[in-house]
Amino acid sequence: MAARIRRPRARTCERCGREERLDDATGSWVVADGTGEVYCIHEWDINGSFVPFEDGPTEA
Ligand SMILES: [Zn+2]
Repeated sequence: MAARIRRPRARTCERCGREERLDDATGSWVVADGTGEVYCIHEWDINGSFVPFEDGPTEA
């Protein structure tokens, strides 16, 4: 049983619908398509569990 850190592979903005995916070569996020608002402060919904920004400090 291997315990590995699960890294999100894709994310979708809950506000404007912008979609990005993780590029394996660069390890950075790239826009999946042309949708979304450039000036949106993107709130990413990654598999419904990964939250990059919390309202406050939490213990995992
Ligand atoms: Zn957005």
